[in-house]
Amino acid sequence: MGYPRDMLETDVAPGVHRIEDAYTNWYLVEGDAGLTVVDCGVPTSWGSFQDALKAIGRTTDDVRAVVLTHAHFDHVGFAERARKELGVPIHVHENDAPLTRHPSRYDHERPRSLYLATQVKAMPIVASLVRNRAFWPAAIKEVVRYDDATHTLAVPGDPILVRTPGHTLGHTSLHLRDRDAVIVGDAFVMLDPYTGKRGPRVVARAATADSERNLRTLDALAATGASKGLTGHGPAWTGGLEAAVARARENGVA
Ligand SMILES: [Zn+2]
Repeated sequence: MGYPRDMLETDVAPGVHRIEDAYTNWYLVEGDAGLTVVDCGVPTSWGSFQDALKAIGRTTDDVRAVVLTHAHFDHVGFAERARKELGVPIHVHENDAPLTRHPSRYDHERPRSLYLATQVKAMPIVASLVRNRAFWPAAIKEVVRYDDATHTLAVPGDPILVRTPGHTLGHTSLHLRDRDAVIVGDAFVMLDPYTGKRGPRVVARAATADSERNLRTLDALAATGASKGLTGHGPAWTGGLEAAVARARENGVA
């Protein structure tokens, strides 16, 4: 039977729609020439993708591109399927390109098992990730790389790339200037899937390659001056990115 029908929050910022599956967010961004999918949730998100398109009056024909903020297993879910079936490019930072071939193997500072065993609050999240086969997405056979010299991507929404490495070494946020919002991926989150703690905060060391660098590169988000932070986990932050970054630093690293 079907995927769990979780949630669609339309216009979380103008023309930006948040879909949440298994405590993980991904986004549809409307532009003049169609749609960009930002991150791809978990494998079962393909079903929510069809539902969300219908709900906003679009079809898969409107989708022009997928952009990944980073290539962790819980953000690449249906990317390969979108590439194969819709023929759209999958944009990813060159440092995360290797992860797209092995999304389940990634650098992190502490073992996941430590968290899974001790963080009772996070257990429903982990259970949901397992149920949605999040840990086992298909490898992406072909990606289009962007790098540190890439300023914008020519995809619907015209995102400005904001370098936020640390969670992964290629982690990148997407500034949608005309929407006063930044899709921050997992640079900071409003819900840490590994501890169940609410944000804004950086993700636990169990899933972060370099947390010190992660905290440091948040300056780039504060510098956007945007009001909204659309994260990979948890609801939107609407109190300004400068304040979000200050809070994330206060909260520290688990
Ligand atoms: Zn994540």
